[in-house]
Amino acid sequence: MRFRSTWVCGSYARVKPPLLSSLAPQASHSYSHLRSNAQCSSFGIAFDIDGVVLRGRVPIGGSPQALKRLYRDCGTLKVPFLFLTNGGGIPESKRALELSELFGVHIVPAQVVQGHSPFKNFAKRFENELVVATGKGDPALVMTEYGFKKAISVDEYASYFDHIDPVSQYKRWTTKLASEDNDKQTELVPRFNVLADRVKAAFVISDPVDWGRDIQVLCDILRSGGLPGQRNGGQPPLYIAADDLEYQAAFPCERLGMGAFRIALQSVFNRIHDNALEYTSFGKPNPFVFRNAEMILKQLQLYSDHHEKLIPSNGHGEAHSFKTLYMVGDNPAVDIKGARKAGDTWFSILTRTGVFKGKDNHSEYPADLVVDTVAEAVDYILKKELVC
Ligand SMILES: [Mg+2]
Repeated sequence: MRFRSTWVCGSYARVKPPLLSSLAPQASHSYSHLRSNAQCSSFGIAFDIDGVVLRGRVPIGGSPQALKRLYRDCGTLKVPFLFLTNGGGIPESKRALELSELFGVHIVPAQVVQGHSPFKNFAKRFENELVVATGKGDPALVMTEYGFKKAISVDEYASYFDHIDPVSQYKRWTTKLASEDNDKQTELVPRFNVLADRVKAAFVISDPVDWGRDIQVLCDILRSGGLPGQRNGGQPPLYIAADDLEYQAAFPCERLGMGAFRIALQSVFNRIHDNALEYTSFGKPNPFVFRNAEMILKQLQLYSDHHEKLIPSNGHGEAHSFKTLYMVGDNPAVDIKGARKAGDTWFSILTRTGVFKGKDNHSEYPADLVVDTVAEAVDYILKKELVC
């Protein structure tokens, strides 16, 4: 049976005698011991983004300073870490640049694992097939960067079907397409033969912007076998990047996430179609997300052990197994549940800066450690691992 030392610090309701006090003697170990441990990264860290290091686009919880502690003075990575978020909407390369600017450290695309990152594994299967993608940001660009050659956003797809959205004229926002050059009235010419080709798969890559339109169009695609208005064909596969019911954004209380959209789509689809909606969702708390994170952290470990700049290459030699992998998150049902399911290597740390705001530990999905902020989490990890 798995033993978990569940305890809480911060403003510090303690569930079990804490380990922090036992760290003090260890922290006085000799310098050579510290250096030896630091050079052999036997641990790695996965940080959730929303509600842990950012709220909206604002760094929280002392995140810039905390992340800087994971680098050497020369700018090379000292501790292998990555961001493990169910969010997304833009390519990992762009997100890495954004995060680098926000935190003042050099973050490479490999350190950004988003909800839709597993979709790249479908690129070969659907490489030359028409697929639609929806969500905030630039869903078609994300899919194109993954290698899908005929990926189109639901925004663009819907624009080629007259009256597919019967209330579009009442919407006060407009969707500017690539073909609309500087507001010139140009006739829309589909990039692909969307009026005849069947959609072979639909992807929800991030929170949809226009739920009503997207539910309508996805129902049209999914119940027609991939061509709105038709009546035959089986349901094309539907892939959803994550299944979070709620997440913490800039608003004081939680916002509805992709899981809420999935429930809405599924409820409608199942009422209007004989067969229940079939779908596959990804993201935390799915254990495979954590296994994938571990694989990436092993690659990052090679850089950190060899004091190299984070420039993708073949790396050096073999990565060694981690003794401990830390998951720092704010959502018990997503981050903590996932880390607990992922195996004994994972140690879960719950912050109070996002979805979770409780005084004590979460009752249903208790974390190994509860702290106020990500800065406290990093401090705990580095002291425990004798890196500082
Ligand atoms: Mg979160």
